[in-house]
Formats: sequence, C-alpha cells, structure tokens
Amino acid sequence: MPHQPYWAPRVKQQLIWKLYETDAQGICDEELIDEVGYALLARCESFIAAVAAARGKVSCPSCGATIFHDQKPDTVLMCAECGWEMTWADFFHSFQHQQLYGADPVLDLFRSFTGGFLKARSGREKMVLIDQLIHGFHLSLLGQPTRTTGVNLIEGNYREVVHFLDSLSYGEASTSGLHDTHESWRAKINRTAEEWHDDRLKL
Ligand SMILES: [Zn+2]
Repeated sequence: MPHQPYWAPRVKQQLIWKLYETDAQGICDEELIDEVGYALLARCESFIAAVAAARGKVSCPSCGATIFHDQKPDTVLMCAECGWEMTWADFFHSFQHQQLYGADPVLDLFRSFTGGFLKARSGREKMVLIDQLIHGFHLSLLGQPTRTTGVNLIEGNYREVVHFLDSLSYGEASTSGLHDTHESWRAKINRTAEEWHDDRLKL
C-alpha cells in the first residue's frame, strides 16, 4: 500500500464550545487555546493543500515533494523524489465531499490565520484570530458573504454548524471584540437565509 493522503479532520464542536465557555468567564486558558488553534491550523493547511491538488499541484504524501498533474482521472501521480504513485482519481476521492474546497477569498483567510497564529504571542491575540477564522465567509463573485467558513472547519452539517456557532457563550468578561464579530456574523447568516429562502438557517 502506498502512503495514503492525510487530511486533518474538522474540529470537534465540544472543544470549541469549551473554549468560548472559558473565555466568557474571563479565563485565558492558553493550553486550550493552543489545542483549538493548532487543530484549526492543521485543518486550514489540509484545505489549502486540497485546493492546490484540485488545481493541479499535489504534495507527495510520502516525502512532501511537489507533483504537478493534468487533472485527468487516469493520470498517475508519480513522485520523482521517492517513487510514490497513485492515480489522480484515487487521490481526488481521498478528499472529495469533505468540505475541503473553496475559492481564493477563503484561501486568503485561511493563509492569514495560519501565518498570524504562528506569530501571535498572547493567548488573547490567538483567541481573536480563532474567532475571526471560524466566523469567516466564502464570498460571491461580487464580493458578498455567502457560506460561513465554520462548516469547513467544524464538525457537523451546514445547518448544525450555523446553530452551533450561534450557541457559543459570550459574556461581559469575553475577549474584547468577540461579541461584535458574532453580531456581524449573525446579520450575514440571516441575510443569506433570506436570499436562499431557507428559514432553517434563520437565527
Ligand atoms: Zn515523494
């Protein structure tokens, strides 16, 4: 068996719920922040790698070398460095239907999170970055917010993730700015619910 591609899973709701619960109590739990942050970081990296693969650039699962391909199902991806190989169809199936696809605005958001998180010094700074990441949006061609990026990063179907994010705890002691981000996220979710005529997404 050749090395199988690895895609980091979406983060468990329970873990994120605990993070917001703790933050709302005014506690900056650096260990918990890092646990959530690095899980999100791994997920963002997988997302970025999956989009690159779909666009013709695969990173070898065995040694990390770059393999370019023509996106035809029968094409065999072959690593010149280590000899690893797999058909593009098999490679594609390994990440299909796993919420690992988006256009450039999402890639920019995810890249800015990974870069920023690694540079952030304080727990509060990391908390804000996590918060902005999971409350991000895919954008339409006209630049309007559409789907929440929460579904690419957190376990659950679209509606479950929307209602989960809406159930997170906020309080007087929450990290500054979090509540405003939440309110603005809610307004965008409600606007898309109207546009899509989907009352199940209304908050
Ligand atoms: Zn290789």
